[in-house]
This record gives sequence, C-alpha cells and structure tokens, in this order.
Amino acid sequence: MNVDYLTIHEAHELLRTKQISSVELTRSYLERIQQIEPKVHAFVTITGDLALEQAKESDERIAKGDIGPLTGVPGLIKDNMCTRGVRTTCSSKMLQNFVPPYDATVVERLRASGMIMLGKSNMDEFAMGSSTENSALFVTHNPWDLSRVPGGSSGGSAAAVAAGETVYALGSDTGGSIRQPASFCSIVGLKPTYGRVSRYGLVAFASSLDQIGPLTRDVTDCALVMNAISGYDPRDSTSSPNPVPDFTKCLKPNLEGVRLGVPQEYFVQGMQPEVDNAIRAGVKILEELGATVSWEVSLPHTRYALAVYYIIAPSEASANLARYDGVKYGYSYAETDSMWEAMEKTRQHGFGPEVKRRIMLGTYALSAGYYDAYYLKAQKVRTIIRQEFDNAFKQFDALITPTSPTVPFRIGEKTAAPLQMYLSDVCTLPINIAGVPAISIPAGFASSRAESRGDGLPIGMQIIGKPFGEETILQVAYAYEQAAGWWKRRAVV
Ligand code: GLN
Repeated sequence: MNVDYLTIHEAHELLRTKQISSVELTRSYLERIQQIEPKVHAFVTITGDLALEQAKESDERIAKGDIGPLTGVPGLIKDNMCTRGVRTTCSSKMLQNFVPPYDATVVERLRASGMIMLGKSNMDEFAMGSSTENSALFVTHNPWDLSRVPGGSSGGSAAAVAAGETVYALGSDTGGSIRQPASFCSIVGLKPTYGRVSRYGLVAFASSLDQIGPLTRDVTDCALVMNAISGYDPRDSTSSPNPVPDFTKCLKPNLEGVRLGVPQEYFVQGMQPEVDNAIRAGVKILEELGATVSWEVSLPHTRYALAVYYIIAPSEASANLARYDGVKYGYSYAETDSMWEAMEKTRQHGFGPEVKRRIMLGTYALSAGYYDAYYLKAQKVRTIIRQEFDNAFKQFDALITPTSPTVPFRIGEKTAAPLQMYLSDVCTLPINIAGVPAISIPAGFASSRAESRGDGLPIGMQIIGKPFGEETILQVAYAYEQAAGWWKRRAVV
C-alpha cells in the first residue's frame, strides 16, 4: 500500500479499519525520510526507535478499540519545543547538546492523543528568520523546488509535511513562522489566538507574540491537531481559560452569511503580480461560495507593523536570551578561569549572527534614554494596531490577505540583506502584534517563473479572524479548499 502524502484523517481511516498497523505506517514514513532527507534536510533529529516503540503501544491501544483521530499517526515537532530525553537544539550551537528533562505541554498533549513522534525539525536559530537559512546546523530545501527556501522559521516542519516525510507537524509563530512556510510549501498553517495554546516548554523568543500551531496537508487535519493541543494550562500563565470547541464541527462547504473584508494595505508595493492575481481570484471563489466581500476596509497603521515588530520582538528576545550564559545549561566556553570571559565567549561562540543582531537591537531599544523613544512608542502603536483590528471585526467575520508578498525565493538570495528578509513577513507580523488568529492555505501556483519546475511555485492566502475566532477562519479555509482543490497537488521530490 502506498501511504505517502497521507492526511491525518486518511491515515486514521486506514488504522481504524485495520488496513495498516501503526508500526507499518511508521516504518514506511521512516523509510521515506531516509529517501527524501538527503535532498530536503528537514530533520535535525530522527527518533526512529522511539517512534516504533510508540507505534507498538498505539497498535495495542487500537487492538483494544481505543482509537482517537491522532492515535498511531506520525507527526513531527519543531526543534524549539522541549521533548523529554530527546535533544532540543533550536537549531543553535548554544543548545546543540541540550536534552530537556520534560515535555512541552503540546508534546504531552499530542502524546496523550497517540502521536508517533518521528523527530525534531530544522528551523531558523531561535526562530529568528524567514527562510530557515539562519539554522546553525544546515539549510532546509523547498520540496517544490530544491534550489529555493521553504520559508521560516518553521521551514523544517513545513518542508517535511509538503514532501510527505511526516503526516503533520507543529510549528511556532512569532511574526509569521507557521504561516509563511506553509505558504511557501503549499500546505495549511494556523497561528492560533494568543493564549489559545500553551507555550509551556516552548523555548521563548518574544513572549508577547509567540504561539504554537499546526502545519498540515489540509484544513480538516488542522482542526484535528487544534482539538488536541488547545486549551488552558496552569503551567502557562498566558494561556486562556476559554472553553475549546470541537474545531471539526465548523468545517462546512458554504459561506452563506459570512462577511469578509479585504484590507488594501496588505497588497503591498513590491508584491509579485502572480500573488496579487491568485489572491484576487481566491476572493472571487469565496464570493461564489456565498460570502459577502468588501474591499473597503482600511487598517492604516499596518504600515508601522514591521517597525513595531522589530522593536518589540528583539526587546523581548534580548531579555529571554539572557539565560544562555554558559552556567545553567547549553553550550559553555570552558577555556578560561574568568567568569566574565566565560560568559562573553559562550555568547560570542554560541549564538549566530542574526541572534546577536536581535539581542543588540533589543538591548539598545530598552536602554535608558532610548526606552521611551523606541520601546514605549512601539507599545503605543501596537495598541493602535490592535484597535484597528477590533474595529474591522465589528463589520467583518474574517479578513483576507496574501500570506507573503512573494513566492519562495532562492537559497542565498536574501541572506546578505536582513531588511529584505524582514519584508517577507509584512503580511503576517501585524497578526501577532494584535494577538488574533490567522491561517494560511494553498491558493495557487505562480507558473510564469521561468526556472521553476513543472507546476510552479506555491502561493498562500491568509485568513485572519477575531480573537478566539478560529472556527470562522477554519470554516472559510475549508470551504475555499474544497472549492479550489489546490491541496491535491503534491511536491514530487
Ligand atoms: N521572520 C520573523 C522573524 O524573523 C518571524 C519569525 C517567527 O515567527 N518566529 O522574527
């Protein structure tokens, strides 16, 4: 049986009807990983033995009739989420040998739901980047075109799902790191509302922005993973006590009565015309499905979102990353008797250039004399951005934008120009600043890019919802996906 590119619900059907065992399914994914990895490089760690052990347990559960939607289905975890006994590197030299003594809440919850963990995925170091090129370990390649980036920072997770190396994956999103790679790899990626999913055990980047979410082949799978990972966690003080609905209940193929807005500010200068066309065509489909669409939405402060993000995120990062001093855990420079020199050299050798850049930016923005001018000002603008979203959601149930202004770029194309790289996230950053949920779904391919192979390069559409409005954006995403059918295309590696 060919089990490549399965969705969670397809795998579940095969397991439930005993057409395949979890051990067989896991074996065939491990074999595929061996085949694909030399080209894609999505995995930092492959946990083959552990996966087979977990699969055996799942088969025992299934034999007793104890089977949930995720039981026995292989998944992959971004390498910034703690996994007990399994190395968690953040793709940094600093944590290259760090083995956490505990599981992140999301990992614990997925394990309780019967996930088979195939391994840990590559990412931009400490989740800082948009291409996975900032990994201190190696570069991940886009399965749709191996000369291009998979997006970032959850590029390993997205590439592995698109290449059929795993059924689903978890990513984290501080400014776009789930949605932009989902867009670049033509899969589904959801950043939940701030507080919806516990971040206990997620290595902190920027605590007021970070969220964990699913990367999956289709919207149904996204809802299934959300069911498993959402909900209050007493160990994360920012997690919300709001009740968690069954997210699969809202997946309906029509949009009668749904009010959509398309904010102009997201069709930015420098956007590729193919992206622009694909999103406009996508909006037409949404209208045909019964939604009412208005192009008269304005979120004028969106244009400050990038500036606000690159003050707030580095400021929080500079505080969060202060813990890597070579004393408590992680890399430690040992060739000196001086404490100060040890700390200095630990940080100098342990962090890569982008992480150092962020720490310096953040330290500067928070320092006496600059705090008011930068950090405080950014927080004020953040409030205005959030208010604009609140106002827009008085009129609309969801907003539609492109996920990224461009299709995947070439490996090396933007590494020398950090600002160019930062622009990759103009459409996704405002969502983290406002704390609202947003999903990216496949919305077509740019076929005119001369060098791209066959089907062209992926384009993603972003659907933004009100706080705790995940059900609405999943409904819009599902209806569109069923009508447009882009998810059926596969990256052939
Ligand atoms: N690309 C953005 C950054 O570099 C967002 C990263 C993220 O969401 N983790 O900060």
